[in-house]
Amino acid sequence: MKILVINCGSSSLKYQLIDMDGEQCLAKGLCDRVGIDGKVKAETADGRKAKFDAAMPDHTAAFNEVKKLLTEGELKVIHDLDEIAAIGHRVVQGGALYHESCLVTDEVKAGIASLNDLAPLHNPAHIQGINAAQQVFGMDKPEVVVFDNAFHSTMPPKAYIYPFPYEYYEKYQVRKYGAHGTSHRYVSLRLQELHPEFKKVIVCHLGNGSSITAIKDGKVIDTSMGLTPLDGFIMGSRCGAVDPSAVTFIMDKENISPMDMSDLMNKKSGFLGVSGVSPDMRDVEIAAADGNERAQLALDIFYYEVPKIIGGYITALQGLDALVFTAGISENGANVRQDICKQLEFLGIKMDYEKNEGLRGKETRLDAPDSKVAIYLIPTNEELMIARDTKEIVENMNK
Ligand code: AMP
Repeated sequence: MKILVINCGSSSLKYQLIDMDGEQCLAKGLCDRVGIDGKVKAETADGRKAKFDAAMPDHTAAFNEVKKLLTEGELKVIHDLDEIAAIGHRVVQGGALYHESCLVTDEVKAGIASLNDLAPLHNPAHIQGINAAQQVFGMDKPEVVVFDNAFHSTMPPKAYIYPFPYEYYEKYQVRKYGAHGTSHRYVSLRLQELHPEFKKVIVCHLGNGSSITAIKDGKVIDTSMGLTPLDGFIMGSRCGAVDPSAVTFIMDKENISPMDMSDLMNKKSGFLGVSGVSPDMRDVEIAAADGNERAQLALDIFYYEVPKIIGGYITALQGLDALVFTAGISENGANVRQDICKQLEFLGIKMDYEKNEGLRGKETRLDAPDSKVAIYLIPTNEELMIARDTKEIVENMNK
């Protein structure tokens, strides 16, 4: 069974075609700058690559590019669209409405649209993507939605309620929802496969966007992202948690609108904002090594905040069986994993630093023999998680 996994943004469409017999990605790509000056990048598992400009005034045009790439020309991987059993869409915000993945129906589309206020940049784009996929791939192709925060829906109210006047939660559903749930779920399920005996787990998803999640008995009890992915700790260009009064203070002083302030906190802060160099941690590391003090400060903040959140979650979990690293920064940055673990040594969390050194992107157990806690690197695969959910739902549909 082949599943097409789609991640639609307001001006982009990422896709992966996954063969579920062996769970292999056959082809993947990105249609970027949809509605602007259309750029397409695509590759196949056997190494064929393409990069070209294409007029894509809307998501339907982008899906037509994906269809052509998959079925025609040099990057062809299937003969026709009938080979695709179903389409799985990533949806950023499922609010409190959706606790698990489900088949797309008119009611589900209306449900996703009803949450537009909570994810104004994402949910409308997902609906556009779902509609465009139906136009290009046909109404009879099953479509499944996988919500990025569904895995966090097990959090108790004490973790997700913001202590504003309660009416704002009731009126607007303003609360913590978390993000990266598909990644945290993939990684924690993999760990469960390896060690069903581990009950208390912390997953550190450290990438361009970063989040840390505390998981007890397979269920999330807390996560660092909030109403939106802005909460938590320093990221590429997001500030993470700050005193809310600092936000209103800057808005007042600079006469900034809520939208512009949101832009400032999401796109101009974090590593980029503090260092002035780049949102990419590698660039910040290079600048710091060259003596750039603000770059070093950005790194210092990161290495201060991450162990602090892990420490807090160990308390929330009342112990820890395993600490897991995943996503770009922690899959590739051996030094990052090491520097975080060094600060946790006093808790008995001890890394095998030799084993860790130079390790990139490969599932590996990393704790020293005398560590009280297991340490793992488990590469994430959100697309595969979406494909698995899609397959399961489609198979159940056919029963
Ligand atoms: P992701 O969002 O999971 O794709 O992660 C992307 C981020 O990983 C990039 O923005 C880089 O900052 C980071 N990254 C990749 N390689 C390394 C590395 N060797 N050391 C530190 N950070 C890295």
